[in-house]
Amino acid sequence: MPLLLVLLFLVCHGLVLALEPGPAGVGSFVFLVAAPLLAGAACLWRARRGRAVLDWYAIALSMLLWAGGMAFNLVDALGAGRADLTPRISLLLYVLYAVPLVFILARARHERPSISLIDAAMAALLGVLFFVHTAHFAARIDVDDSAMSNMRYMFDIQNLCIAVFALVRWLATDTVQRRGLFRVLALYAMAYLLVAGYINHFASQESFGAYSDLLIDLPFLLLAVLALRQTAHSSFVPSPRLSRMVQAGGPMILPLLLLVVGTLVVDHARPLAVTGFVVATLGFGLRSTLLQVALLERQAALDQLARKDALTGVANRRQFDTVLQAEWNRMRRSGAGLGLLLVDIDHFKAFNDAHGHPAGDRCLQAVAAGLQANVRRAGDCLARYGGEEFAVVVPDATLEDTVSLAETLRRAVETLVLPEGTITISIGASFLQCSALLDIDTLLAEADTALYAAKHAGRNRVAVRVAQVVHVDASALP
Ligand code: GH3
Ligand code: MG
Ligand code: MG
Repeated sequence: MPLLLVLLFLVCHGLVLALEPGPAGVGSFVFLVAAPLLAGAACLWRARRGRAVLDWYAIALSMLLWAGGMAFNLVDALGAGRADLTPRISLLLYVLYAVPLVFILARARHERPSISLIDAAMAALLGVLFFVHTAHFAARIDVDDSAMSNMRYMFDIQNLCIAVFALVRWLATDTVQRRGLFRVLALYAMAYLLVAGYINHFASQESFGAYSDLLIDLPFLLLAVLALRQTAHSSFVPSPRLSRMVQAGGPMILPLLLLVVGTLVVDHARPLAVTGFVVATLGFGLRSTLLQVALLERQAALDQLARKDALTGVANRRQFDTVLQAEWNRMRRSGAGLGLLLVDIDHFKAFNDAHGHPAGDRCLQAVAAGLQANVRRAGDCLARYGGEEFAVVVPDATLEDTVSLAETLRRAVETLVLPEGTITISIGASFLQCSALLDIDTLLAEADTALYAAKHAGRNRVAVRVAQVVHVDASALP
């Protein structure tokens, strides 16, 4: 259906060109304004589908700017505008058309608003530099033969950059939605590059109203059709490394272009060129700093998550192993005592069977909170050891400290009031004072044996085992 409409559009435009030959045909201008407006409307429609919204809006804005440029051409051709102003406004709009596109191409995924704002500022300054450079040559077209070709090359560079950047992002973007966006943008930008190149270098200059106007419609109609179509889910998946490099390197596009265009205008607009250099350097530095801060924060949050048990919020098994090893090493250096508690909920299977697994989960959370509230000494570490088992590392402690803490924990859980009733725990405590050449597993095994004994003795109690101290004659060591 969209293809049929495109054909109809081209046929009507062709007919108007045939009926209204010669330069400055008003009818042809209407189609040249309508084509980008149609493309923009298609992008707005696509934005309403809720994915990559900002990007589709930005493309629509580009289309509007281009249509505006053409509308001022029309005003100029009709002789209705001011001869000194209208062509300049038209030129400004054509130049600004590139800015939203460059902004999208430079933007990474899930950027913070502050970072997008910096990019937007750099894109806006780039637009000003493009304009100043183009306007400089536009003003000299009548006196300087090279001015026109300079301007054309400027547009070529602009179009080529957009096409190449869009192509690279299309090939390297890993998410389906963004790849769909860049695919549309790349195909459009390549078509635009070819058509603009042909019109600027091979078709006669001033004369809108020739059949070559039909060519100008093509990229916009292509964009409209692609934006309206459902994204094809291609099986092509870029290498993760390439896609990360392009995503990380994408933000360099804007400062690089600022530097390039700044260099171009340095002769005729020195202060603006210097502003371009400063903004490129500061902008990139600032966005890198903000990005780094965001990454460090995310890293810290991930580190936290990696150490926590998801259900109960206490330390997980991995963190428990790390802490126990560290305290073990410290104990061997300092000679202080090290206690270990293994806590197991009594008859928890029956609790689950009676009240259901979700109630069991809530019970685990309540027990964890009750235990944590009583493991308060700095250095003590409560962890979820396994399903319904918890463990507490008690460094720098005496045997009495360890047993007393275990008894406190037992009583704390016994007095917990859950909606389903009360619950109890059994605790196996083991203790070790330095000077022993035992390994961690022995400490754990002793606690496990003590826990077994506590269960055997009737549950809801604490059993203690002091790890066997084996004295070794130091002279016998190798
Ligand atoms: P004992 O007094 O001898 O410890 O009896 P018990 O029923 O508590 O012991 P057992 O080890 O046989 O059962 C432990 C139960 O804990 C079995 C399992 O369904 C339950 N469980 C383990 N992890 C979870 C969990 O994350 N959530 C819930 N709701 N239940 C769990
Ligand atoms: Mg158990
Ligand atoms: Mg149990």
